Amino acid sequence: MGAQEVREGFVRLYGAEPEGVWAAPGRVNLIGEHTDYNDGFVMPFALPHIAVAAVARRTDGVLRLHSADLDSGVAELRLDELTPESDDAWTAYPAGVVWALREAGHAVTGADIHLSSTVPSGAGLSSSAAIEVVVALALNDLYALGLQGWQLARLCQRAENVYVGAPTGIMDQTASACCEAGHALFLDTRDLSQKQIPLDLAAEGLRLLVVDTQVTHAHSGGEYGKRRAGCEKGAALLGVDALRDIAYADLDAALARLGDEEEVSRLVRHVVTEDQRVEQVVALLESGGDTRAVGPVLTAGHASLRDDFRVSCAELDLVVDTALAHGALGARMTGGGFGGSAIVLAEATDVETLTKAVEEAFAAAGHKAPRVFEAVPAAGARRLG
Ligand code: ADP
Ligand code: MG
Repeated sequence: MGAQEVREGFVRLYGAEPEGVWAAPGRVNLIGEHTDYNDGFVMPFALPHIAVAAVARRTDGVLRLHSADLDSGVAELRLDELTPESDDAWTAYPAGVVWALREAGHAVTGADIHLSSTVPSGAGLSSSAAIEVVVALALNDLYALGLQGWQLARLCQRAENVYVGAPTGIMDQTASACCEAGHALFLDTRDLSQKQIPLDLAAEGLRLLVVDTQVTHAHSGGEYGKRRAGCEKGAALLGVDALRDIAYADLDAALARLGDEEEVSRLVRHVVTEDQRVEQVVALLESGGDTRAVGPVLTAGHASLRDDFRVSCAELDLVVDTALAHGALGARMTGGGFGGSAIVLAEATDVETLTKAVEEAFAAAGHKAPRVFEAVPAAGARRLG
């Protein structure tokens, strides 16, 4: 849905013009998975899929929320009654952002919000961050809060962690808030320092496909928590603040110290090698050499997530294996895992054959048909009008 449609929807709902319309994108992560809660490196880029919000301020302490994509009507909440983990509906995301802004001392006195999103929900492409960031950016502008993208991202993460109650890292919100068109974002999640890395795959005759498996396995939330706890245990056993502090060169020594802690060792090995893979991809892209060299690094990342971190699933493995068997340069699951999406780096000329092969493999295995689309690095959050 475009800016004009969302603006018109706002007028129909609330009987007045909004003060503006904002957009924030979903993201896909090129490399750096399950590193963002280990203070490590990630490298997402923004998708052209966006959440669009029309917003107007209120002065009476009331927050009204509506999504054009759901049938749940207008929710009306009182700002002084917003309570963490009190809401398990979609409204917790925007309400959580308002709560986090107010908790941080920002004088937000109410808002009317109408939004619509083209980011597929629950596909590992961060529809939740898109909603949080679009609301945060709108309120930042309207209330002249003067916060920068990374600061909005931190507040949105707090909204999701504390208000919604989902223990996610900082990557999704930072990607949505800070990405730039034509670039991937090399982000150090420890201090949020960032670097925009030019990524023009088409210029080299390449394509990056996103394959949304359209499955979410029910246990994903609990498993995510277990991986986080395992990483924290690893850091504690090794006497570091976060696994990011284990240098790649010291990995073998660290694993030796972990002795028979088999599970923790696997988690540590994934995180440390994954940070190394992000640095490798950054070096490859910055060298101006052939981007095809990134492919095997993506595939190695998948093997690590599948065998060491154990967050893949049959559908994701099938995408990766089928794509590689049909000429892909590299492929891996992206996002938290247990379903969601995979990415495939391929020659433009192989895209058709490869897509067909993945679709046929899914049909043969009796899986729901996957959704395949091409991802081109798009702009981060912005005001549309
Ligand atoms: P992901 O961020 O990977 O898409 P999440 O489970 O983190 O998955 O977020 C999905 C949730 O975000 C949905 O369950 C819903 O509450 C909210 N959401 C996503 N898109 C919309 C939308 N268009 N309108 C309202 N809520 C949405
Ligand atoms: Mg999410």
